Amino acid sequence: AVKRAGRRQLRRYHPEQDAVTEREQLLARELGHALPRQELTLAFQPVLRLHDSRIVKAEALLRWTHPALGRVSPAEFIPVAERSGLINPIGSWVLREACREALAWPDLIISVNVSAVQLLQFEFRATVHDALTRTGLNASRLELELTETAVLYEDERAARTLQELRDLGVLVSIDDFGSGYSNLMRLRTLPITGVKMDRSITSDLTSPQAGQFARALTLAVRGITRNLGVDLTAEGIETPEHLRAVQDLGCQLGQGYGLAMPMTAGQLTARLARPATCPDDQGAPRHASH
Ligand code: C2E
Ligand code: MG
Ligand code: MG
Ligand code: MG
Repeated sequence: AVKRAGRRQLRRYHPEQDAVTEREQLLARELGHALPRQELTLAFQPVLRLHDSRIVKAEALLRWTHPALGRVSPAEFIPVAERSGLINPIGSWVLREACREALAWPDLIISVNVSAVQLLQFEFRATVHDALTRTGLNASRLELELTETAVLYEDERAARTLQELRDLGVLVSIDDFGSGYSNLMRLRTLPITGVKMDRSITSDLTSPQAGQFARALTLAVRGITRNLGVDLTAEGIETPEHLRAVQDLGCQLGQGYGLAMPMTAGQLTARLARPATCPDDQGAPRHASH
């Protein structure tokens, strides 16, 4: 017992862990002010139909610029927001803001990331309904992206909420598919409309070691999504080689820095005004909004 307590002590006073905890506490505290202080914005990353390079969707990506801390990555602050419960008010704001911006792009579907914490919240369906009615956006133009960990487990409540969301008329996609314990069977039973394949798989496609398996996996997922009649989007297309690989494997939709960077609403509006095939600076990180 003494030994165990001793080890616990050691762990508790590990300086690295203290730094992590301190940083998390700071972020949680500051994040609590981010909405009223208007430090949160949305970037929009186009999703392209690969056969004709047309933009068919835009994914809303949350950005936080703190006056002292600068830009904090969502990969860092979203988990903090989830653990502190702040993801609920922040997520509601993202939904409403994304729906509002989407009114300017009548031909696009707007995709919004939803964390498991939000999905399992009792009033989540009402939050989505509220965002749609307050903005007047048609439900069929809103897509919710859920990570596979949020819904691929045999969680009946999550499946029921998903069905309620589908009943509202919104689209529902599994995000980052292939990044965790992907359950192909679960795809059949969940009422989803799309699958987004994780960028690690796209990147593996062109690797000499992992390429063969990644291609086999992509073909399997392509076959299953086609059979189910749902969309397949390849994430993380960075190079012409990635693009060629995912096209050869039959992915219809693609997203990635090599196709278009996340951008401001104004930049997206400007880009939509240009012809789809116009050779331009697409892919170049022109602004820091990503
Ligand atoms: P995600 O939903 O998978 O979003 C795609 C992420 O990949 C974005 O990072 C995007 O900028 C990045 N990305 C796009 N193309 C490429 C590429 O070609 N290469 C690479 N390396 N990355 C690419 P971002 O904006 O930093 O967001 C990270 C994650 O944070 C998102 O992953 C999502 O899980 C989460 N997130 C962002 N906004 C929200 C939000 O409003 N709510 C929730 N719950 N989560 C959010
Ligand atoms: Mg996403
Ligand atoms: Mg993703
Ligand atoms: Mg991701």
